[in-house]
Amino acid sequence: MIEFQNVEIKYNDFVAVEAMNFTVKEGEFFTLLGPSGCGKTTTLRSLVGFIIPSKGKIMVGGKDMTHLPVEQRKIGIVFQSYALFPTMSVYENIAFGLKVQKLPKDEIHRIITEMANKVDLNEQQLNKNVSELSGGQQQRVAIARALVLKPNILVLDEPLSNLDAKLRGQMRAELKRLQNDFGITTIYVTHDQEEALTLSDRIAVYNKGKIEQIGTPHEIYNKS
Ligand code: ADP
Ligand code: ADP
Repeated sequence: MIEFQNVEIKYNDFVAVEAMNFTVKEGEFFTLLGPSGCGKTTTLRSLVGFIIPSKGKIMVGGKDMTHLPVEQRKIGIVFQSYALFPTMSVYENIAFGLKVQKLPKDEIHRIITEMANKVDLNEQQLNKNVSELSGGQQQRVAIARALVLKPNILVLDEPLSNLDAKLRGQMRAELKRLQNDFGITTIYVTHDQEEALTLSDRIAVYNKGKIEQIGTPHEIYNKS
């Protein structure tokens, strides 16, 4: 479904990602794993459309998306840097993209109620200000906000890194359940090997702007 063909991405003269080749299948949970600064976020930014590669192609569903504007890509984004609106209620945060699409209010209401149920946010939490929620709850809001727009692809950049260890474990299980429920093609970025091993169908192991190996957790684990 997603295919990176020989992608290179530069910041001015600095090559952050080079000779990037990988394919993600429909419905797959695919993780980019590697230490800080190895090019994982840069890869995601190119998939989402925040940055255009200097070489190569990004294909989705057989179409060349390399130069497509962000709004036309149907990708749900959960980035740390793509934060929630802190002064709005949870409800308004999740409703935001739906309002942009000018859906009727009762339709928006129905969609949000259903989604809140799936991600375990109750009525009381919906009415709270985002800043009143815990880190884990905010993460659920961010995921809900992305999923209500019915993306073809969900992209998550270190979504659990700000949480404490216990909550991280809980949210990991929850993420896996959500991804199974929605069956959505997911690209996940982490530097946490355990997280990658428990969540992923396949993992791309990064090193300094390149993919070193790609495989199932079993394949990667037994080699390392
Ligand atoms: P990761 O997500 O694996 O931590 P990044 O993709 O954020 O890595 O960064 C890869 C490399 O590109 C790093 O060396 C980083 O310093 C550099 N880089 C990232 N963003 C920019 C930018 N906006 N301008 C210049 N260099 C950048
Ligand atoms: P508008 O589009 O004029 O802002 P809305 O009807 O979308 O008005 O929402 C009005 C307010 O009521 C918003 O602050 C929204 O957060 C809140 N709201 C609407 N429906 C619900 C609901 N089912 N649960 C919680 N809050 C809601």
